[in-house]
Amino acid sequence: MPGGDTGPPITLPEFAEMGVERLRGVGEKKAEALGAVGITTVLDLLTHYPRRWIDRTREARIRDLRVDEEALVLATVAHVASRRTSGRGGRGRSNVLVTADVTDGSGHLRVTFFGQAWRERQLAPGTDLALFGKLEVFAGRKQMTNPVVDLVGRDSDASAATGRVVPIYPQSGKVGLSTRELGSFVAEALRRSEQRGIADPVPGAVLDELDLITRDAAIRGIHDPGTTAEQAVARDRLVFDELLRIQLALVLRKQVLERTSPGIAHTTGGPLVARFHEALPFALTDGQRQAVAEIEADLADPHPMHRLLQGDVGSGKTVVALTAMLTAVEGGHQGALMAPTEVLAEQHAVSIRRLLDGVTVPGGAEAGQLFEDRPLRVELLTSRTPPTERKRLLAGLTDGAVDLVVGTHALISDGIGYRSLGVVVVDEQHRFGVEQRAALRDRGRGGAVPDVLVMTATPIPRTAAMTVYGDLDVTVLAGLPAGRRPITTVWERKRVGELPLAELGVWEHVRAQVEAGHQAYVVCPLIEESDKLEAASAQATHDELASGALHGLRLGLLHGRVRSAEKEATMDSFRRGQVDVLVATTVIEVGVDVANATVMVILDADRFGIAQLHQLRGRVGRGSADSWCYLVGAGASADGERRLLALEESADGFFLAEVDLEVRGEGTILQSRQKGRTDLKLASLLRDRPVVERARRVAFDLVAEDPGLAAHPDLLAEVELFLDDDEREFLSK
Ligand code: ADP
Ligand code: MG
Repeated sequence: MPGGDTGPPITLPEFAEMGVERLRGVGEKKAEALGAVGITTVLDLLTHYPRRWIDRTREARIRDLRVDEEALVLATVAHVASRRTSGRGGRGRSNVLVTADVTDGSGHLRVTFFGQAWRERQLAPGTDLALFGKLEVFAGRKQMTNPVVDLVGRDSDASAATGRVVPIYPQSGKVGLSTRELGSFVAEALRRSEQRGIADPVPGAVLDELDLITRDAAIRGIHDPGTTAEQAVARDRLVFDELLRIQLALVLRKQVLERTSPGIAHTTGGPLVARFHEALPFALTDGQRQAVAEIEADLADPHPMHRLLQGDVGSGKTVVALTAMLTAVEGGHQGALMAPTEVLAEQHAVSIRRLLDGVTVPGGAEAGQLFEDRPLRVELLTSRTPPTERKRLLAGLTDGAVDLVVGTHALISDGIGYRSLGVVVVDEQHRFGVEQRAALRDRGRGGAVPDVLVMTATPIPRTAAMTVYGDLDVTVLAGLPAGRRPITTVWERKRVGELPLAELGVWEHVRAQVEAGHQAYVVCPLIEESDKLEAASAQATHDELASGALHGLRLGLLHGRVRSAEKEATMDSFRRGQVDVLVATTVIEVGVDVANATVMVILDADRFGIAQLHQLRGRVGRGSADSWCYLVGAGASADGERRLLALEESADGFFLAEVDLEVRGEGTILQSRQKGRTDLKLASLLRDRPVVERARRVAFDLVAEDPGLAAHPDLLAEVELFLDDDEREFLSK
């Protein structure tokens, strides 16, 4: 290692500077293979953790395996062969069958692989394997089909080391790296850092309090544990480190946002907001009042607000968000609402205009002004806005004539100037990250940063929220408006596309509800790859229903390719009850609000995500009548079926969010907001929930005591190591 054997303990940033090729045994070829699996530095290598550990004292012997039980065995290949099977391989798969006979001294086992011709090369005789699979008996012989295979190495003597916990590294058979080789490179790196040791930037008091071992012991213990227990405490420590780094980054970012940027101290409780609330056809729920109070406290504060509003579908987030925007207008500022897509922006504009219908900005004595009341100017800005209109609108934003503007993230792009942007509401379905934050600087008057309220379309679990939105304060909008009737959800286990739509049982109920004076939605299959194909499929669904199962009813059609004038006309007719059944794509996911609609049929429901289904389902059950949601789908995937079961079982968005996290894993959730290096290699937001909370508390304590982490430079350097350039720059501002 550079620096020789003497010197202070080695830090992670130092490991990140050392290329793997400096390790003995890593030549050009191996360095290339390591590079192919993302390992170029010693840090990458040391954080390439084993994916499991085989406790050699517990592994199964082939002789003792029981039929239909899953087991892990270590064995050596005795013989391998491949042959072509009859029939088509299907979907570009080869129709090759590879069969290997393996033995562990206690007995023989046959392993077979379908359509994986490369296995023949992988499983050369003499190769040591760890196999994980379910035992079958075929023609009197023990067999595993397509088991999980890890190459332990080709040196059978060494692999037979007894009484050891053997690490199994994630590896790629294709680049030719065995777990043994990876293990030996790691061992080499650890041996060469023995003298100096591995630095520990986390204060000893924190480690003592949480009963965590040193980092040096943890990194050694995860790669080369003497016992399973040793491996577990090593993992505990490293999981904490990963989560602490993330929380420190978030808490530091939060601090930068709050302390170093001037915001606007809005005046709350003014007459415009009062008028808006009075004009609503309902009273605010307790939950809405509480949420508004929390937000108003932030708005009144001179630091910019960065708050997340979480609430279940139908809980009434729009009213809360509008209250915040009107508070800005009240003080002569402007409000902006950003939706993830243009279609959703259009929907939002419609529902906001409706809620604000007849509300005027107080003038005269009431507002301490010379002017009379004036209308509130709400505008929609999308790429479809005609050029002349766009010009007029942009001028209105610059001179302050426009009070509220609705659009996509383009609203904060460079070409758009505001007189004084006071509150920004982000209807987040994808990331509103550091770049967007940066774009918000200088939007208020005199360089003030606007207050930001992020609304989530669906709630996410608490610990996930802490990680994904950890730089925000969180308001949970509890409860639903009174008088909501539960929605009955029914899963029709049928595969759409394999049968004429008319054969589904759901249409009779749709007809009955229409006859009873209600309305319905039919949500068409999701085609992510192409807007055009999706539109065509929606059209086909519409036509098939119009001439078949729903013949005689008044059908409307809505998809992403319908021109906006036509779209608005269709929505309008639906709202007025002139359309009985609205056949639509997911464009109706948010903003569509027709209390008389009581049935929704979602076709190919098993292809949608939980959050999306829950959100769609929230379009019914908005009035006081009983409502139904039919989920039609089967066979897309096991996960798809789990999702539908969960939806059938529960209407609670927070519960569904937990299920979603389990089904999708955290990767998807994190990806939506974090780019750059992801530091979550061991930690799981599900499994390590309590550690997330602990790490967050420690991060807050450390930053409260030492705002720039000046007294903990190693910790700060390590946090920055895992950030991307944008974030690093943001934090150092
Ligand atoms: P979310 O965005 O949280 O899913 P919305 O803001 O769209 O919910 O509100 C859902 C529906 O409930 C809308 O029709 C809205 O007008 C209505 N609503 C909102 N607040 C109340 C309330 N306090 N009482 C009755 N209805 C309400
Ligand atoms: Mg403020």
